[in-house]
Amino acid sequence: MPALKPSERMKIPRQRMPEREADERRTAFIEVNRGYTSQAAVTESMRCLQCKDAKCIAGCPVGIDIPAFVDAIARDDLPAAADILFADNVLPGITGRVCPQETQCEEVCVRAKKGDPVGIGYLERYVADWAREHRRELFDPPPPSGRRVAIVGSGPGGLTCAGELSKRGHAVTVFEALHRPGGVLVYGIPEFRLPNAIVDAEVETLRRRGVEIVTDVIIGQTYTIRELMRTEGFDAVFIANGAGLPIFQGIPGENLKGVYSANEFLTRVNLMGAYRGEESDTPVLTSTRTVVCGGGNTAMDAVRTSRRLGADPATLVYRRSRREMPARAEEVKHAEEEGVVFEVLCNPVEILADENGWVRATRCIRMELGEPDASGRRRPVPIPGSEFDIPCQIFIQAIGTRANPLLTQTTPGLNTNKWGNIIVDENNMTSIPGVFAGGDIVRGGATVILAMGDGKRAAAAIDAYLRNGE
Ligand SMILES: Cc1cc2nc3c(=O)[nH]c(=O)nc-3n(C[C@H](O)[C@H](O)[C@H](O)COP(=O)(O)OP(=O)(O)OC[C@H]3O[C@@H](n4cnc5c(N)ncnc54)[C@H](O)[C@@H]3O)c2cc1C
Ligand code: SF4
Repeated sequence: MPALKPSERMKIPRQRMPEREADERRTAFIEVNRGYTSQAAVTESMRCLQCKDAKCIAGCPVGIDIPAFVDAIARDDLPAAADILFADNVLPGITGRVCPQETQCEEVCVRAKKGDPVGIGYLERYVADWAREHRRELFDPPPPSGRRVAIVGSGPGGLTCAGELSKRGHAVTVFEALHRPGGVLVYGIPEFRLPNAIVDAEVETLRRRGVEIVTDVIIGQTYTIRELMRTEGFDAVFIANGAGLPIFQGIPGENLKGVYSANEFLTRVNLMGAYRGEESDTPVLTSTRTVVCGGGNTAMDAVRTSRRLGADPATLVYRRSRREMPARAEEVKHAEEEGVVFEVLCNPVEILADENGWVRATRCIRMELGEPDASGRRRPVPIPGSEFDIPCQIFIQAIGTRANPLLTQTTPGLNTNKWGNIIVDENNMTSIPGVFAGGDIVRGGATVILAMGDGKRAAAAIDAYLRNGE
């Protein structure tokens, strides 16, 4: 096919992601987005202007050579596209599904200035899905370095660091507290956004590269960090244990029967399979009325999950306006299509009980936006006397998480900040030589790709440390 001129590329409209109908998915856990057809992918890739100074690359925390892999799709050379993509990203099937591209690569794509950016995330998913179906080994094992690295946690940060270190010949063991690797990718993000089978397949690719994953081991309990280095023979450690401790608002009624943290609710449903009803050993309450408090991805996942489990209405309560919601735009759109009720500018002040100690309603107060706060967003201010009750049997708190202190408290000399997050230098090294950290345990609740960026940077630093003692 002859190369298109930029003016011809500019005329091609952005290709839509095919989705399952809202009616079909409202009660089902199947994936909402179906993925591009090959024709849609080739057409979308032709919208890319192949900029010389491609801003999209700098917009990607793992620095994928976006114009190069997009150009390979346009030439219908999917093996080349996969090589380029996997060179910088060990989990593209995951990031192609859950990255907030609209605030990263697609936000800075030059085409966004005059319309829709190139669908970089959709194209990434397309290539990753093709590779999963058609490619077996993408990896030439390098000569072994003879050095061993322990990684704490198998979320995106830990898995990325493991993949990058194995490319450099180091023997890597990932220790995971749960029985299944993947971190939030398997226990938090639901099937209808990111099927567990996709995570399993990308984990399997890492195993084929020689990464060892040991589950059901809690570092800080089974072994301390000091034991890993002194008695278990590891030369360096990367800590990526996330920030999975739920935060509660501290309002009356949070100890009632029927109150969940979003993490507990989603873990029961996703990791333990409670969505299969009686087939699962782990139950979860289902009800006709559920209130979820929060405006991020976790809140959106919890409310859409409860909708699928029968909640009617499933109500999302958020204290700012819709514009300030931190959740990905696509998730908010999907939630609305599925019939989630949005109560914005509204905050829970109490959870009310029935005579048996079960939740019967959430008392809320209306809010208005005042002056900007430290985050730059306008501060929500309660409107006196505006309280009202939303009847419900389940209340799910989804306002954020913080660091679990188990590991940091059992590691003398490991410096943390006032929120319990580990402090690192520009190479992701902690206050203990040879111990590195990244992802949510350093940043607080952030994103998959930022955790991966930390894992990648730390792997380069660990490699330098092991080879040169730098
Ligand atoms: C419900 C939900 C939805 C989200 N949706 C999105 C989204 O759409 N897009 C996005 O970019 N981000 C999203 N995020 C945020 C994103 O998932 C996290 O920022 C990311 O997973 C952090 O990666 P991590 O590797 O630091 O930690 P995690 O993914 O939290 O993984 C840490 C792992 O360490 C294990 N662990 C903990 N302590 C120990 C220990 N002591 N010993 C051994 N193992 C331990 C944990 O069991 C876990 O498996 C979402 C988060 C949640 C909760
Ligand atoms: S900025 Fe947009 S148009 Fe330019 S190379 Fe990147 S994806 Fe293509």
